[in-house]
Amino acid sequence: MDYQALAERLLPETYLPLEEYEKMYPPRSLPQGAEVTRLAPSPTGFIHLGNLFVAIANERIAHQSGGIMYLRIEDTDEKRRVDGAVEAVKNALKYFSIRFDEGAEIGGDDTYAPWYQRQRADIYRAFVKDLVARGRAYPCFCTEEALGALREQQTAEKKITGYYGKYAKCRNLSEAEIYRNLDAGKPFVIRLKSMGDPENKIKFRDEIKGEITVTENDQDVVILKSDGIPTYHFAHAVDDHFMRTTLVVRGEEWLASLPIHIELFSVLGFDRPRYGHNCSLMKQDGETRRKLSKRKDPELSLEFYRLEGYYPRAVRVYMLTLLNSNFEEWYMKNPDKPLEEFPFSVRKMGKSGALFDLDKLSDVSKNELSRLSAEEMYGFLEEWTKEYGTDAQKAYFNDREYLLKVLDLCMGTGGKKRRKDFTTARQSMEFISCFFENATRQDEYRVDEETKRAILNEFLKTYSCADDAKVWFSKVKDVAGSLGFAPEMKDYKAAPENYKGSVADVAEVLRIAVTGRANTPDLWSIMQILGENKTRERILCAEEEA
Ligand code: GLU
Repeated sequence: MDYQALAERLLPETYLPLEEYEKMYPPRSLPQGAEVTRLAPSPTGFIHLGNLFVAIANERIAHQSGGIMYLRIEDTDEKRRVDGAVEAVKNALKYFSIRFDEGAEIGGDDTYAPWYQRQRADIYRAFVKDLVARGRAYPCFCTEEALGALREQQTAEKKITGYYGKYAKCRNLSEAEIYRNLDAGKPFVIRLKSMGDPENKIKFRDEIKGEITVTENDQDVVILKSDGIPTYHFAHAVDDHFMRTTLVVRGEEWLASLPIHIELFSVLGFDRPRYGHNCSLMKQDGETRRKLSKRKDPELSLEFYRLEGYYPRAVRVYMLTLLNSNFEEWYMKNPDKPLEEFPFSVRKMGKSGALFDLDKLSDVSKNELSRLSAEEMYGFLEEWTKEYGTDAQKAYFNDREYLLKVLDLCMGTGGKKRRKDFTTARQSMEFISCFFENATRQDEYRVDEETKRAILNEFLKTYSCADDAKVWFSKVKDVAGSLGFAPEMKDYKAAPENYKGSVADVAEVLRIAVTGRANTPDLWSIMQILGENKTRERILCAEEEA
């Protein structure tokens, strides 16, 4: 067979000689040991926690070694492409401070651009043409229906599905048959002519999993689709070579494709980057652990964290905890150091499923937020509210001094111990709503209606905003005593049967009346911030409320 002639017929355009591409995209001049890593998402509009998980690892590896991290958009599948998806990827990763040096919509050094695979079609075609000319790729005219029927047949015969060995019909077409099909204008794809043997096992050193054994590929995978665009497998091999990637950390779902990638690199004559296949994020679901699922778990989408207003650093800290087994200890010892100072190590990455637990993330989040100053918290909440808050919430920012006072109180910034009431921006904004709007009651009174009224009524008789905390509290005690509650806790504890309850129960009634909640920061301070009129108004309102 004249492969050269076939290559000309299949891909009649003239491309640059292959060595020109080597010159166009020369090896990077970076210091010894510097890693070039990448994130290579498809623009499907769904950017998920798994993407962030590997992005953090790749970013750390690159920058810690003085290397480069770039963003490549793998848009070879037109059907899955969604408008605005690249913006979404960029914004989502920016929120979590993933720093790219180069890439799609990033800018930076453009020696290795373009960063969209569709814009690199010529490079791929040049290499496909070369493979055909070398007899290592061939046209396949099988229709979708024929391939569907083949799959059914293989399934019925309990064989591995796919285009390989004796099932690879077009692999053995004669020259005459090929030209007859081409003359008839039949559409075709180009497939790799695999030389692999599934009987052969290859030892492979995975940077994360260690030494693993993979089966040699024998699938004649499609490398160029009928629209002249390559498949992901082919494009990524060419790109990782010409973008001079040195290390690929990606999800372990790609392990199954590794044999194909190994063969592609080999047939193209490229050195392979090193690979690390990262464990999947798992979720505890009753007794079992399962992978996070797009359908069942909203927390898989990165959009979720922005929508709820998780503090980005908290998500990063939690992800690092899952990525590197020694991070937690380091962070405990160095809570104030920049996270970049943690010596990230690929070797310390987990080999099997990392358990992702939203409650744990919330705890980390509480901790992180409790370490902010009121000003920092203000800034964080303001950003979030601009994008996701209600109009009423936006109005909380009209009086900066007032809101700062509220935050100081809620965070306990002045006290010995910080409060940890804030988890996310959304929850924080709801938490502080009682300082701005008439609080809707969230907790039930634990006393009967008549007692509640009596407490509120008695309290209002002597309440004054001018009282300091001590005087205020002694008045609350008086209310307690006058209504059969123990003014002193210790008296109540010694003989509870003598009382209706204690001063704590009285304070709780006041607390719910003023804030709607049984758990709040110091009530005297809340009343101070609200002021006399608002406090009275709320208590009167609560008295009326049935
Ligand atoms: N485009 C693939 C994805 O969407 C990237 C796989 C790889 O990193 O090689 O995840």
